[in-house]
Parts: sequence; C-alpha cells; structure tokens
Amino acid sequence: MNEDKRYWRSLAEHATSPQQDEVQPEFETPLEPPTQEERRHFLKLTAASVALAGAAGCRWQEDHLLPHTQQPEGVVPGIPRYFMTAMELGGAGVGLRVKSYDGRPIKIDGNPAHPDSLGASGARHQATVLGLYDPDRSRGFSSLAEGRRQPASETEFRVFAREHFSALRGQKGRGLAVLAGESSSPSVADMKSRWQARFPEARWFEYEPVSSPNERLGSKLAFGKVVRTRLALDKAKVIVSLDADILGSRPDSLALARAWAKGRQPESGKMSRSYVFESSLSETGAVADHRFSLRAEHIKALAAYLDSELSHRLGAPAALGAPQPAPAAKFLEDPALRKLLTAMIADLAIQPGASVVVAGAAQPPEVHALAYRLNAVLRNVGSTVQYLEGIDSSEPSPAEALRALNEEIGAGHVQTLLILDSNPVYTAPGDIDFAAALAKVPTTICASLYADETVNACKWHIPLAHFLEAWGDVRASDGTISIQQPLIAPLYGGKSTIEILAMLSSDELPSGLEIVQRSLLPVVGNVAADPRLWRKAVHDGLVPGTAAAPDHSALRPVAPFEYARGELSGLEAEPGQLELVLAPDPKLYDGRFANNGWLMELPDGATKLTWDNALLVSPSTAKLLGVTDSMLVTLSLETESLTVPVLVVPGQATGSVKLYLGYGRTAAGSVAGRAIAGGSVHGEWDEQPSIGVNAYRLRSKRLWDFARGASVKPSSDKYRMATTQDKHTIDRIGKVLGTEDRLPMLVREATLTEYEEHPDFVKHAVHHPPLLSLWKEPVKYEGHRWGMSIDLNKCTGCSGCVVACQAENNIPTVGKDRVYMGREMQWLRIDRYFKGDPEQPEVVNQPVPCMQCEHAPCEQVCPVGATSHSHEGLNDMTYNRCIGTRYCSNNCPYKVRKFNYFNFHEDLKEEKNQVQQMVYNPEVTVRFRGVMEKCTYCVQRIQEGKFRASRENRTLRDGEVTTACQDSCPTQAIVFGDLNDPKSEVSRLKSNSRDYSLLEELNVRPRTTYLALVRNPNPELG
Ligand code: SF4
Repeated sequence: MNEDKRYWRSLAEHATSPQQDEVQPEFETPLEPPTQEERRHFLKLTAASVALAGAAGCRWQEDHLLPHTQQPEGVVPGIPRYFMTAMELGGAGVGLRVKSYDGRPIKIDGNPAHPDSLGASGARHQATVLGLYDPDRSRGFSSLAEGRRQPASETEFRVFAREHFSALRGQKGRGLAVLAGESSSPSVADMKSRWQARFPEARWFEYEPVSSPNERLGSKLAFGKVVRTRLALDKAKVIVSLDADILGSRPDSLALARAWAKGRQPESGKMSRSYVFESSLSETGAVADHRFSLRAEHIKALAAYLDSELSHRLGAPAALGAPQPAPAAKFLEDPALRKLLTAMIADLAIQPGASVVVAGAAQPPEVHALAYRLNAVLRNVGSTVQYLEGIDSSEPSPAEALRALNEEIGAGHVQTLLILDSNPVYTAPGDIDFAAALAKVPTTICASLYADETVNACKWHIPLAHFLEAWGDVRASDGTISIQQPLIAPLYGGKSTIEILAMLSSDELPSGLEIVQRSLLPVVGNVAADPRLWRKAVHDGLVPGTAAAPDHSALRPVAPFEYARGELSGLEAEPGQLELVLAPDPKLYDGRFANNGWLMELPDGATKLTWDNALLVSPSTAKLLGVTDSMLVTLSLETESLTVPVLVVPGQATGSVKLYLGYGRTAAGSVAGRAIAGGSVHGEWDEQPSIGVNAYRLRSKRLWDFARGASVKPSSDKYRMATTQDKHTIDRIGKVLGTEDRLPMLVREATLTEYEEHPDFVKHAVHHPPLLSLWKEPVKYEGHRWGMSIDLNKCTGCSGCVVACQAENNIPTVGKDRVYMGREMQWLRIDRYFKGDPEQPEVVNQPVPCMQCEHAPCEQVCPVGATSHSHEGLNDMTYNRCIGTRYCSNNCPYKVRKFNYFNFHEDLKEEKNQVQQMVYNPEVTVRFRGVMEKCTYCVQRIQEGKFRASRENRTLRDGEVTTACQDSCPTQAIVFGDLNDPKSEVSRLKSNSRDYSLLEELNVRPRTTYLALVRNPNPELG
C-alpha cells in the first residue's frame, strides 16, 4: 500500500496546492457554433446516399414495404423482440443478446448463457450497433479502373468472378492466395477446407494485427501442444498478473471480471488479493491490491525469479524439471520491489491450490510457459486453473504470415489475391510496404465493411456484411459454439465471408444459413429432419456441450532462459534506450472501430483521453526527457520515426513509453479520417483529417508488442488534446475548502483489516452538524421508490456502462473540440482518483450518473418546472418545457447534467444521413438544442416494466427492471431497484455498512449511493 494517503485527480492537481483552482470551471468556455469540420465529426455520419426504402442492393424488396394484411404471429409493432447472436473479434466469439424494434436492432447486451459473456457486454459490443448504421460503410461493389474507383454491380462482379475463378480451378488454384483474419468459426474452417479442395495449389494466409500467438507458442513450449486455459477467479485467493490485463483485454475478460467480483465480497469474508506487475495502468491494475509499474521487458526475469523462489520453497514435482536459475537482474534489487515480492511469495506459498498466475498476451512464449509451470508448482491446476484441449494449429504467427505473403508476391507467385475482412495496407508493420506489394498482383479482390485503405489499393471490392446482417458461427474461448444469426437484411448488399468463399468457389450451397447448418451438422444434428434442433440452437445462441474436453497433458521442463540486453537492467530510464510498447487501443482495438463516434469519444479508462492517441510517459521519464503534456515529440526506433503528442500519465513504468494502435486512419470515414485516394466511389465523400497517429508504422520484425531502443526528441510545438480529466469535477467549493479534505469523503475506502474492525468506517469519513430540512418530513412514496447502489469494490472502470447508456438513451457525440470545452454529452462518467506516488499510484473508479436526489437542488431553481420530482422519487426532465437557463446544472453539486449547446442531430434530417436514425431507441426522446438532459434511471424501462406487470395483472418483481448501465456491467457493480421493497437487492445493499452518499453533508439525499471500496493488502506490506 502507498504510504501517501492523499487522493488526487490528475497530475496537475497533484502538483498544485489544493487552494489553486487548476481544474476547468463549468460554462467558462465561449459559445461558438461548430465549424463545418467539427460538425462533420460530431455527426459522425456525413455523406451517405442511402434512401432506406430503396437502398441499392438491399435484399428487402420495395414491394415488401407494405402494411401487414395478416399480422405475422408473435410480431406486435412497437414491441421489442430479443434475439441471440454472437460477435467474433480476433478469433474468439462472445455471445450477445440483441434488442430489435420492428426489425431494427438497436441495443446489444450479453447472452447470459454464453461462457465468455454471462450476460455482460463491453463498450465495443455496445457500440457495434452504431457501426451497423454507419453511413460511411461501403455501399456496393466497386472496381478500380485507370486509377479511379468506379461503382460496379453485383452482376458485373459475378460475371468477372465466374470466368476468373473457373480458370483458376482449371489450374488447381496456382497463383491464387487468400489473406483472411483469424477465425474460430466452424463454417469458415469448413469453407476453407472446401476451398483448398477446389484450389489445391492455392495458398491461405491468416493475418491478425492483434493476436496472441505467444500464448499458443508458450503452451507448445510447456505441453508440446496447444491448450486452452480456464481460470476460476472466484475461487482464487491470490491473483498474480505478469503484465496481463486479465479483466480487460482477454476474449473471456467479461466472464473473468464477473468471477473476480464474486471473490471480492468483504461481507462474506471472501476477498481475493491481487498483485499486478505491468508497464501501463490497465483495468486489472486499477483494481489491484498491490500494483507495481514495471517495464514489459522485465517481466521475463521476474517470472524466472518467482519460479526459482517458489519451486525451491514448495518443492516442485520432479517431472517439472529444474526451476529457472535466479536471474541476476538489477531491477530485482529495488528495495520496494524486493519487499513486495518477498511478501507475495510467502502469500502464494501458504495458499496451495488457491492462486492464479497469468502472463500477458504481449509477453514472449517463455513467460507463458513459465506461468503454466508456476500454476503447477502452486498446485493450482484442477482447482483455480483448468486446461482444455486447444486447436493445435501449425499456422505461423500473424507477422510471419504477412511477411510470407509479401515474399510470395515479391517472387511473382501470386496472380490473384483475395483479402477477406482484413486491412493490411493500414495494419501491416512499417517494414512491409503492403500497398506496393498489392500493386504487383494482377487481380486483387478485397471484401471489407468500409472502402478502407486496402480496398483503395485493390482492383475489386466486395461489400462485407456486418455481423448483425449475416449467418455465421464462432467458438468461445472454451470452444463452445455460438450461432451468429442476422438481425436485419444487409443494408448495403453486403456478403459474409462464408458466402463470398461459396460464391467464388462455386460451392453448391450459396446461402450463409445453409453453409452454417452444413458445418454444424455433427453438433446440432440433421436440421432438415428435425427443424426443432436448429430452432433451439438459434434461440439459445449456442450449442450446449460443444466446449473443449479437459486436457491433462503433462508439463515439460522449461529450458533455462537466456536474457537480452535490457531484460536484466535496473528500473531507471535510459533516454536513448526507452522501451516502446505498441498495444491495441482499449476502445478502437486494431483500428477497425475507429469510425465509431461512441468509442472515439469515450474517455480512455486510464488516461481519460478522447479523440486521439498519445505517447504515454511516466512523470519521472517525462522529466528526464524534458517533455511535458501536449508537447509534440519525435519518437524514433531504428529507422522509423513518428511525430506524436505526449501525455504524462501516472502508473506508467519508468523508462517505458506506450502508444496505442488503431489511429491515424486515412480511409476510415468521416469520424476517424479519410484522405481520398484515386477518387471516391460515390463522388460525394469529403476529405477528413486523420485522428491520431498511425503507430503501425513503428511496428517491425523487431518490434511487434514491445522493444527496447526507442528515443524521444522534444520540440517546442504543442498539440491540443481533449481529455475529460479535470472536467465536471464535483463541487468547486471543494477546491476552495481543500481537495485533500474533500476527496476522501467522495471516495471512501478501507483495508480489509480496517473494515473488519470497523465495518461502519464510511460513517466516520464525514462529520457534519445535524442536517435540517426545509421541507416537511418524512416524504412518503406509496408505490415504487427507485434507487441505485454502485459498488466501488467491483468497478474496474471498463466504461461499458457509459456506452450502454449512450446507446439506450440516444445520446449524441459532440466532437473533439466540444469535448475539449467540457461539453461531452454522456450521462454517465467514470470519475477516476489516484492516491499516493504518481509513479506507483493506487486507483479508484467511481461511476457518476444523476443521483436522483430526494431534495434535488436542480428542481428548486428551474424557473419553468422542467425538472421536477416524480411520485416514485425520480428527478424527471420535461424536455419541451426546458428553456435552457442551465440554472439546474449550476446548482447540481455532482455536475451530471448535460446541456445541448447545438442540435447535434440536425443533419440527420438529410436524406444521405437518415440511416443513422435507425439506431435510435424509439422509447427515448431525441433532444433538441437548448435542452438540458441527464440520467433518468432509464425511466422508459421502468414504464415498460410497469405496463407489462399491469397487463399480466401482477406486481413488478425485483430485478425485472434493470438500467442499461446495470445490464452491461461485467462485475454487477450497479444494482437498481425498488427501495420500497424491503426484500429487493438494492434495499439489501443500502443497508450494507459500506453504503454511503456522495456529499451527504449537503442533505440533498441522493437515491444513488455507493458501497465503499475495501482493499485487501498483504498485512506484511503494511
Ligand atoms: S460500473 Fe461501469 S465502468 Fe464500472 S465495471 Fe461496471 S460497467 Fe465497467
């Protein structure tokens, strides 16, 4: 635990005296209308010539747009329906549940039965529904002729393809190559083998810019084969992360976060303890009991040290071979790290079979192999760790695959290249000029959702169907097969990957549905003979019993490590030898979600940065390099360099700098940037500046995830970044009175020992005179009395709830410049507080929606009664009464009200942008300019639940009405319900001794309260 108990919100606040008002005050920014360019960005959807009813290529016939003369059974207009489907990302699938209004998917949640979702969903899953209706999506086939891209009809493409691919079949596919992303889909695998049977001499390459081949390779080192690892975090008493964002970036992170939260219940005496060693602050690091900022290059020696110590202490089984020799690493001499490791090793040693050691995806295979070994040494296998059979692929790593394809092209062996859902011109490492390679291939065909960088360099383009538009299947991380069912006919005539393979190989089954049914025949059964089998699988969204079988392979000894320069170095930074980490962006992933305004504007969980990537540097490294926040610097590694802005962030390891991939797109769309090369397909696209810098340019054979040897050259130039760091701070009076005094009242925490001694510790954080009321008390509510509880002990800061709220409530994005002014519109924000040393900080995440105060200060100042108290205790907003005085926002101590300075939806009236309106939730008003808005506890869901209960002549059940944020939360940190029901979950939580209100001394009596954070530090570490 940190010695320094002071909380702070930003480095600026940490460095300044509490009396100085460094944070941005509300409403002090000028009120200018958005520029044309800004408008394009916040509307995120300029220029789409789509008339919905007559969209070219749409599979719905115009004559179908007629009223039903006979109502289809079970379809009631205006009543939403829910369907299961699945989404694949980087070769792993997550099961989802989609809400659909009159054939229009509008909201995504997790499939409760899916092993990797358990009903939760992340920010990216939530945001894919916006991507579905993105007018920037490719809207048809096209071809490149004489340097210009021309629209083409599907028939034209089919005529070309029939002739071209039948000729290729005649030559057994010689000269044909396919480049596809990684996929776990049984149907894709089936189509791939059929493809290879038809084109036996064709080559197939798999390239995924974000992939974890190291885990696979580590498994081969450890077991001689690939296994899948399943972790039972709910059973683990000690969790050790070796640069692994266990709760945030694994395919099964949603389920792991839920299991982790189950093991963090101080009331039941169940409190795991986590130790996290990582180079940058992650979701897992943010909730760690002990976190140490350590360069990624040091993790290998750290793992070896743990093996050496634990193997000797616990007596590793002889079959595991000799442990790693203790490395002579300088960084291990650091007294603080040494003390932490000594205590952690003792902690692990006394709890055999009750811990988990996890290596991060970026770590080399040896570290993964050692993690397998450490779990065996700690007797975790069979209790907290299980292995399942994996797919033993002999595929090369993605980097090797792309390099091999590049060489094949260079050698003139590829005459036709089919690229399926991959954008290598943008994502290829800087030492592969894939655009130049493509230019050498006589026939190139690219299937993509957007007319992206690779499409611009290809002769033919096939529009790809969105996953919500096509049939498919995918495996979860445990191997369970999920069915991906379409929720809507393809808006732009897109085809799925399997349909394209079927079309080009003249497969006997052209439809995606038939292909999926054929490939799943062995597991689902003969659906033609018994359609109920198929209906059940589609209804459930998965095929039960398809998880991989347990694997009990024996571990092999791991050879002693050899260390490269830097892996045994000290903790201090060396200016010309910085470690550079390139990682997928937590929001935009590899860049495929870059054109999604919800994600682009979502504050990053660790940095609070929106609309940009930046070079993340620790405060001490920044000082050493002479760089400051927002300074533009030249980042160099070997021959490549990039100009990037600097963001100085707490918790970044000394001597390690980090840059996220996924930005700097040149053909993404109107949100993320688009430079027109060779003319646009449809003529009306505007050029848009790129957002952020393209970090792929720095990737190379030497640097894939991280490498040593980077340097940073400062400049005098500045770059403006839009962070939400110091915006909307609670209660400016707090600044005057003293932040140091105020913040421990806002975020209350104790150690487990303190909590056990004083379960009511939260009551002692604030002492105030008796709270007197101006109103007649007590206020009685006859019916429902809604309330919410948010458990700080469970919130990882993942921000899934923020995007869920945005999707549910038709909340607009406003663009970078407006975010800079503090005018972002999200109704829910995640306040993030640091404590202690900025190099090794502790973190608290606090979601802050409208508190629905009993004595609401907003209601008392509204001159027109636009905000008023409902008979169920909600602070209602009557939008058409609001005249925009903003008195309510000024009077809100929590700063949760958001004002529409402009009509952010105005351009949606234009025909070309109308498709975006399909994402709107019809149950929620779309607000206009000059209107104040804020969290409503999803009042539309409350009403819907009450109507349903009334129709069924019963009372509402506890848990029947849930808010959007609650639904998405992987850790179930948010609980909503009726406070008048003493048996409700929310009532139970409100009576928990950890329950407290924000700013309770103001006597506004918020309905949303918090459960205080309890950390479980190792007592040996004080
Ligand atoms: S409350 Fe929100 S930010 Fe916190 S874990 Fe849940 S979804 Fe993520």
